[in-house]
Order: sequence, then C-alpha cells, then structure tokens
Amino acid sequence: MANMITEQCFNCGVCERVCPAAAITRGEQTFVVDPGLCGECVGFYHSKQCERVCPIDCCVPDPNNVEDEATLFERVQKAHPEIAHTLELGPETSHFQAHNRTLSSSLKRVGRRIGRALTGPDSGS
Ligand code: SF4
Ligand code: SF4
Repeated sequence: MANMITEQCFNCGVCERVCPAAAITRGEQTFVVDPGLCGECVGFYHSKQCERVCPIDCCVPDPNNVEDEATLFERVQKAHPEIAHTLELGPETSHFQAHNRTLSSSLKRVGRRIGRALTGPDSGS
C-alpha cells in the first residue's frame, strides 16, 4: 500500500528529503504523499524511509490502498525510467523481503570467505 501522511504532520520536511521516489511534497496543510509515485521504497531500500525518519510517526501505510510488491515495483520503474535498470528486488531493497536480510548477509559473508580461501592470500596483490 502506498504510504500516507496524517493530519498530525507539523511540516518539518524531513520525509520529503529522504523519499527516493519524489512522492512527498508540501500540501496546503501538511506534507502529502502522491500515491501514484509512492512505491513504499521498494526497489530502493529495505524499509520505508519516511516512516524511518518522521519524528512523530505520522507517515503510515494507507489502509485503503493495499498493493503487492510487484505492483509497487512496476510503478517505481515506470516513474523513474532513467534509473529503472539499476533497481532490483531483494532483502536489501524491499520491505516485503527484509526478513531475509540477516540470512542473505550471512550467506554473502560465507561466500566471500570461501572465495578468499579458494584464491589464496596472494590473489589481491
Ligand atoms: S514509503 Fe518510500 S516512496 Fe513512499 S512516500 Fe515514503 S519514502 Fe516515499
Ligand atoms: S517527517 Fe513527519 S512531521 Fe515531518 S513533514 Fe514528514 S510527515 Fe510531517
């Protein structure tokens, strides 16, 4: 679901600066989220950046706009064609998969150790 900003917003502007999709702008009363641009940070980050930085927790999921990961990722790619080829889905770039982050990081670490063991100590020189 796209995020939304509640009426408690006191217009600090922090969320606007961190939104990777340029989906947050100053509205008449408070900052607002454009649901046509918000992709819940899918393709960019493992967590929603506006939720992470809002000091009073008023960037929240919109219960009336529930969407799945594929829909959100497609929106982000269409909204930002200039960087679409750099976006990817995974534990580091989707809150839908973020629960796999620890496992993914551990596997990468093990992979690097195995790589170093196989290539030997002189491989970097
Ligand atoms: S969830 Fe992410 S893309 Fe959506 S408004 Fe918040 S920071 Fe922007
Ligand atoms: S971070 Fe929170 S309080 Fe600040 S502008 Fe965004 S929604 Fe409003």
